[in-house]
Amino acid sequence: MVKDLWNYAAILACAAVLGYVIDATAWVMLAVAIGIIIWQLHCVNLIQQWLDNSSDTHLPEMDGLFYLLHKKLTKRNQQYSKRKKQLTAYLAQFRKAVSALPDAIVLIDANGKIEWANSHSAALLGIRWPEDASVRFKDLMRHPEMETLVSKPLKSDQVAEINSLAINDQTINIKSVPYSETTRMIIARDVSQLIKVNQLHTDFVANVSHELKTPLTVLKGYVEILQTAKDLPEKFIKPLEQMNLQSVRMQFIVSDLLYLAKLEDKGNIKPHQKVQVALLINTIIEAVQPLLDDKKHSITVEVDADAHVMGAETELHSAFSNLITNAIKYTQAEGKISVLWKQTSDGPVLTVKDNGFGIPSHHLSRLTQRFYRVDTDRSREGGGTGLGLAIVKHVLHRHNAELDIQSTEGTGSTFSCQFPPQTGKA
Ligand code: ADP
Repeated sequence: MVKDLWNYAAILACAAVLGYVIDATAWVMLAVAIGIIIWQLHCVNLIQQWLDNSSDTHLPEMDGLFYLLHKKLTKRNQQYSKRKKQLTAYLAQFRKAVSALPDAIVLIDANGKIEWANSHSAALLGIRWPEDASVRFKDLMRHPEMETLVSKPLKSDQVAEINSLAINDQTINIKSVPYSETTRMIIARDVSQLIKVNQLHTDFVANVSHELKTPLTVLKGYVEILQTAKDLPEKFIKPLEQMNLQSVRMQFIVSDLLYLAKLEDKGNIKPHQKVQVALLINTIIEAVQPLLDDKKHSITVEVDADAHVMGAETELHSAFSNLITNAIKYTQAEGKISVLWKQTSDGPVLTVKDNGFGIPSHHLSRLTQRFYRVDTDRSREGGGTGLGLAIVKHVLHRHNAELDIQSTEGTGSTFSCQFPPQTGKA
């Protein structure tokens, strides 16, 4: 900058000398000053042209202040180009990685239009990229469930999911995940194989249970005949009692396994009968009265006669009686049990509370797994199969309800079934 000023001062001094010689100092200095201004404007113009044409990284030769400016801009331009190249490489790598995923990934904008899709979207959802860019997702996926999934408002930590949807001979699991305030990511996965394996597993368990049913009945029958035999030697009395007890246990297990298989077999067909839960609870309480008397428990039952559920009465009977018998089984004698059925703003809720043995917190998340028991001996003593809560979970799932378990070891447990608001008439 200083050097430039000296240069211009020198040029003007020369102009002054020349003007003095030819006796036109003012005119010569004015002409030279105008020349300097025109040169500056020319340089500014060159820089502007260079900036406008981003692909051209070379500026015509310049000196002085403009040379420095050019050098700084060129350096910044080079850094910017390097960063751009890096980001483009990252983006390409990211897209390659996402494309390599076996799932279909589709990004949709605030208006439900496709922003980007990976290659697997073509095979799973029939969405082709870039041909379907800016097409509305709903227009390509004409499926009512899919439309609801995409238009459902979601909070940032929420995920909407369709467990299985049949599209073009495939069974697909679809998730909708918000990834910014207005955009969301649709992730689709082919679960046909998984469903087939699950079906094989369900069929296998159902077949084995079914095959065991008859031999068990025969065995139990013979054991009962032997038990009533008049000349039965003393040493056989105890073993036969045990055989009878164990065959009853096995019958319970087989019947629970068959029931679970039956529930699984019903798949997505949702039950839709109007169930008067208040009456159902009273029937269950009557049925378990002998068990209550046996253990000298006191029970309080509060039911809202108007609260009802649209579902399957037999399934709900099975789930609720499992929860109530568990409360009786897993509470020491003279315990307190309460059963509450009431309407809330989130829908009807059944709460079964006891002041029994309680459950250590690390078991809670696994309680609804098949054959999971906290205390195996205690469960067996009470005639448990380890399948009760698995049945409860399955039944509630079929009724779009949630099971919540709160428990403190040594203090008691509370099992709550939260049903969604019911649309059927009371
Ligand atoms: P089970 O036939 O063994 O009762 P469930 O599936 O009904 O099987 O329950 C699983 C386990 O959860 C039980 O073995 C028991 O340890 C525990 N459990 C269930 N309900 C209660 C309860 N109300 N209080 C304490 N433990 C419970």
